[in-house]
Amino acid sequence: MASRFVSQRALVESAAGGGAKVWQEIIKLSQQPHIVSNLGQGFPDFAGARVAREAAARVLEGTDASSLKLNQYSPVPGTARLRAALLRAWKSSAPASDAYTEEDNVVVTTSGTEGLYATMQACLNVGDEVLVMQPYFPWYVPCVRMAGATPVCVSLEPGTWRIPFEALERAVTVKTKAVIVNTPHNPTGHVASAGELERLSRFCVEHNLLVVSDEVYEPFVFKRASETDGARHEHVRIAHLPGMQERTVTIGSASKMFSLTGWRVGFLYGPKALVNAVNIVHSYNSYCAPTPLQDGVAAALEDMYCKGDSSEIWAEIKDLRDSFEDNARLLVDALRTVGVESSVPDGGYFLVADVARFPLPGAPRGARTTDVDFSRWLATCGVICVPMSCFYSLDGGPVPDSLVRFAICKRKETILKAVEAIRAGRSC
Ligand code: PMP
Repeated sequence: MASRFVSQRALVESAAGGGAKVWQEIIKLSQQPHIVSNLGQGFPDFAGARVAREAAARVLEGTDASSLKLNQYSPVPGTARLRAALLRAWKSSAPASDAYTEEDNVVVTTSGTEGLYATMQACLNVGDEVLVMQPYFPWYVPCVRMAGATPVCVSLEPGTWRIPFEALERAVTVKTKAVIVNTPHNPTGHVASAGELERLSRFCVEHNLLVVSDEVYEPFVFKRASETDGARHEHVRIAHLPGMQERTVTIGSASKMFSLTGWRVGFLYGPKALVNAVNIVHSYNSYCAPTPLQDGVAAALEDMYCKGDSSEIWAEIKDLRDSFEDNARLLVDALRTVGVESSVPDGGYFLVADVARFPLPGAPRGARTTDVDFSRWLATCGVICVPMSCFYSLDGGPVPDSLVRFAICKRKETILKAVEAIRAGRSC
């Protein structure tokens, strides 16, 4: 009877099961008191950007006229200060021909998650199809479905995690409206090269598709990325490639940029008509992002784009980038000593390991270990990781069953505790 009051849309998502159920189990496991190292969810376990926190604190505590105003609603698309700072950040890598303005092309959203949701609501109609590359950030598929459209999943090239152009060509139809791309990539750590993104641009122009480019991990491209494949990898905005600005929505977030996942401040850039449509959805969804926190994010961006070499935030980001890369190295080495091989990430917050040959205590000799069994067992040793099957759709081709994801966006001591537990592994 109670389900009479629940919408069909919500019922579909709550029945989706599979990955979503496993994900909930992992969150529950991570809350147990014996957990010493939570490498499950991608949130930092250190303080976020000081410049942002102090600027927001001044607004929260201030009683002057300007602070009072900043504790109330902001305009729907965000405060003028933050939009100006976001536009400056955008222009820092845009071609000279870029004509974006803060009025027409920038929206502050209530998190990157809301940016994705609002974009899907703003651009999709019932019957549209959206190409989604898996493994993926698990919010993409429900966001597409909740907009009434159909996600069509294709798998990234296993191991290299490159964009699978042949599979995309096979999957595109007259109903395809958009493709979602994510670089640096969650969960694989792949950073799409300029060559890949140029080819994706040609594909989108040829088939007249919108690109939803999820770039929330943009500052985190590792040093090693410049050596992979002999090609130089750096963060490339697909929107800045020829012909792409009019067909790209770029999503970003203070969650990752400033290590402030609890603030729920995100942003997006796009062509005027789409940004107008996103603003309409955003206004009915949350109206505006938290105003005092918008001021904190603006202060951090101003530090990055107005202070040149003396920017505290850039120094912090560079340190974090190096420490995440070191964390990945530590984990890769520790996992190798217990027979687990990993894909070394080129960027982002995560690394992926294959546990098929890891001998679980008590399992028959030579038995294959699955991602879910390994993750449950590792939790008993005090370490949390996430089974990668959570990041696949059941109707998008074969789902690998022995890959797990570890978050590397943590303090070194958190990683060292995990390394210790993994090494002690078989005896625990
Ligand atoms: N995109 C990707 C690829 C992510 O991993 C995340 C968060 N884990 C988001 C978007 C959303 O970020 P937030 O809602 O915290 O801004």
